[in-house]
Amino acid sequence: MNHIIDLTIKPQYIKNYKNGYPLISKEFIVDWDKLKTEGTIVNLLDDRKKFIAKGYYGIQNKGHGWILSCNKEEKIDVAYFSKKIKAALQYRNDLYNDKNTTAFRVFNGEGDGVGGLTIDYFDGFYLVTWYSLGIHAFKEDILTALKSQVAYKGIYQKKRFDAKGQYLDDADDFVCGERGEFPLVVKENGAKFAIYLDDGPMVGVFLDQREVRKKIRDCYAKGKTVLNTFSYTGAFSVFAALGGATKTTSVDLAKRSRSKTQEQFMLNNIDVDAHDIIVEDVFNYFKYAVKKELLFDMVVLDPPSFARSKKHTFSVAKDYVKLLKEAIQITNKDGVIVASTNYANLKMGKFKEFIDKAFKELGGKYKIEHTFSLPKDFRVMEKFKEGDYLKVVFIRKVA
Ligand code: SAH
Repeated sequence: MNHIIDLTIKPQYIKNYKNGYPLISKEFIVDWDKLKTEGTIVNLLDDRKKFIAKGYYGIQNKGHGWILSCNKEEKIDVAYFSKKIKAALQYRNDLYNDKNTTAFRVFNGEGDGVGGLTIDYFDGFYLVTWYSLGIHAFKEDILTALKSQVAYKGIYQKKRFDAKGQYLDDADDFVCGERGEFPLVVKENGAKFAIYLDDGPMVGVFLDQREVRKKIRDCYAKGKTVLNTFSYTGAFSVFAALGGATKTTSVDLAKRSRSKTQEQFMLNNIDVDAHDIIVEDVFNYFKYAVKKELLFDMVVLDPPSFARSKKHTFSVAKDYVKLLKEAIQITNKDGVIVASTNYANLKMGKFKEFIDKAFKELGGKYKIEHTFSLPKDFRVMEKFKEGDYLKVVFIRKVA
């Protein structure tokens, strides 16, 4: 499509790209200023002008582009994207064949060979998310490739172009095929979720927590009281209730969370009145719960990496220990805290240090029973472990 621009890698980074590192950062390039337009194909060369890899220019919070191939002759065209999508589909064969799960990730960015692009499946519908103007420049080729590889009812899209990955609301989320009737009801390990592909950046469920929800339903919920904080549409509460929790309490600041959670409960034949749905700042709720000496058998913590409410700003890096300490205080002895974060810059080791610190400061003991990272469909590249942003730890409070 575009003409190709040659760029020279700074000597100290040549090895990274030779070894298959996929992210292009302008800091690694000598003559970055040559680049003007996102979507331009770039050939990265070493200091002797030898070809190392080719990629595209697209600005994201993570970097400034992604490697697409280490074959100099490879054209980035419909055939290229078809090949990548075909391999991605094959890798998810078991999910396509699982009648109890009809929502999952089909293409996970650089994990499937094309950074900046994800494709999710929702019972016959496909949702393509473009993470930069650069990858969006390949839209026609990518959609042609997708359509040649899958049987689809309809295709929707989300644009998350700016450097913070913010959603660009331009009301053209529908791309082609049939328009869906929303809510679209999908299944996840037999449970149901209401999905809206045409209503803003978030569609109703975060698919990356599938294994965590299953664990809660199948191994932890029976006969327990569960507090689900930052609950969004209550997906963890739904699985806890289906697993036999005596009561779930869902807390989220967003007003919509109440009706959204009720909708998910009703879809799964859960008695809405037997559960609490509270629209409130989690930090206020914690204060209230500590004061009232409320105790839960399970507390789920799944905050956004950064959040600002009227009274509080929260960042995982600064405030997670405090959050854990509050959760510990309202967890029963022998109870379980499910601590989750999707903050990519925090490694599992550091996250476990946070957990240790929180318990130490309160003089309590704990045991880690399970840890989760991204499920198989959120494929991560061996050479880019940073892509595995999810960390979930099941912590048993021992004393
Ligand atoms: N745990 C959810 C996903 C959480 S998304 C799930 O599994 O589906 C993050 C949610 O945190 C959003 O719904 C947002 O409204 C909520 N949120 C952000 N700051 C908050 C705060 N201070 N108090 C309560 N909810 C908050």
